[in-house]
Amino acid sequence: MARQIIKINVKTTQTTLEKAKADILAIGLYSKGAKQALINKLDTALAGEITRLKKIGDFKGEKGTCAILYTRKKIAAERVLLLGLGEKQNATADTFRCAASKAALEAVKINAKTLAVYLHDEAKIDLENLAQAVAEGIHFGGYKYDEFVTQQEDKRAANLSAAVIDSNQRAMKKLTAGVKVGQIVGQAQNFARTLCNRPGNVLYPAKLAAIAKKIASSVPSLNCTVLDEKKMAAKKMNAFLAVAAGAMNKPRMIILKYTPRSAKNKTPVALVGKAITFDSGGISLKPSADMHEMKMDMTGGAAVLMTMEVIAKLKLPVCVYGIICAAENKPDGASTLPGDIVTTYSGKTVEILNTDAEGRLVLADGIHHAKVLKCKTIVDIATLTGACIGALGKHKAGLLTNNEKLAGSLEKASAQSGEPLWRLPCTEEYADEIKGKISDLKNIGSKYGGASTGAAFLEQFAKPVTWAHLDIAPKMNASQPMTKYTQPGSVGFGVRLLSSFIMNLS
Ligand SMILES: [Zn+2]
Repeated sequence: MARQIIKINVKTTQTTLEKAKADILAIGLYSKGAKQALINKLDTALAGEITRLKKIGDFKGEKGTCAILYTRKKIAAERVLLLGLGEKQNATADTFRCAASKAALEAVKINAKTLAVYLHDEAKIDLENLAQAVAEGIHFGGYKYDEFVTQQEDKRAANLSAAVIDSNQRAMKKLTAGVKVGQIVGQAQNFARTLCNRPGNVLYPAKLAAIAKKIASSVPSLNCTVLDEKKMAAKKMNAFLAVAAGAMNKPRMIILKYTPRSAKNKTPVALVGKAITFDSGGISLKPSADMHEMKMDMTGGAAVLMTMEVIAKLKLPVCVYGIICAAENKPDGASTLPGDIVTTYSGKTVEILNTDAEGRLVLADGIHHAKVLKCKTIVDIATLTGACIGALGKHKAGLLTNNEKLAGSLEKASAQSGEPLWRLPCTEEYADEIKGKISDLKNIGSKYGGASTGAAFLEQFAKPVTWAHLDIAPKMNASQPMTKYTQPGSVGFGVRLLSSFIMNLS
């Protein structure tokens, strides 16, 4: 890699808006329903510049909008960035996360090195949660994937140092606690993005396994075991191996174990992630348009890896296993053929009718391994189907489960983390579609409802354990309106969501 990605650090500083020293001071303004006395005080110090911007119509405080003004030494900060929060009554933690993201995005655009952030004026949300969201947002928006850019024409800064500011000591305490968590989650999410953004020739299963080992060794109480293709063959993980049959880069099952003595749950939770480091479709080759994006078909696995790091760093009292199914799907003389029948790790046989429906094959063995490890709750996460994008667009990921309680827990984590989920059905009709004719199961259903038949397939391996499937294909990379808040490419979807889910269990 030619260079380091911008290093982002978020802390808290006790100071006033007028005294905060930074290249940019980012402040949040509501469009309606707020008095914002401190912002008015700042406006006075700036000789009414904010009022003027509003008056000429350049800034109305609407959500997702921003405007910059230059302070000409009237206050300590060089520039003030106004960020619209929309109506005060509608503001949620995600409103502040998005505004913080936009602040960092703009800061990086103008090569700022320091950013002071004051978004929580008059906020009605618990300050600790809000500060976590703001720190996560700063990481999210400040991220830029440019490891391989050697022509450094942009002369961007190596670091972005951000501070959430407040003059009140009591507020400081809560803000600091929240920022500490947000810093850990935000960093983890950005590294998940880097893993996904790295091309297939740089990041392949063995590389991912080495990175997982390194992460585990750097965090106390996180353990990492890697099964190579020989160990997987010894365990008869034939569905998993079938996917990787045509690849020079051999598959790896990466198993992360976090079982602290303080754990409240005796039966562990499993997070199982699909990490196809490149998905060409195999013999059922994909069309070439946008095929390069398939380097991100490992988003679920990256989310599991980085969530495990978050859990361990925060020392959460919960037993969790992270199982990452890493393989490359390529056409070759040794590739699995459409029509091949394999006996999975569970003993069930599967007729592989389409080699591009490979995620469910690696996950079938991964999910079965979670059962072998005696996990009583399994959540799998995968960029599984284009059909899920067909159903939901690029705005929400699919949540498929037949357990109402688990659905509720994941929906709660989704609301907290700002990583949107939408429930899709996973009922018997779909399971009927993947019943085999000359085998127990087949790996595809009919033409329609692919997100649901994909989930129904996975459920056959999870049963009778409590299980949910997250089809995150819609959120593999940034699309509108997310590109308002962050750079294109991977968004590391799932790290915040799964971290919140596990935090809620502790
Ligand atoms: Zn595929």
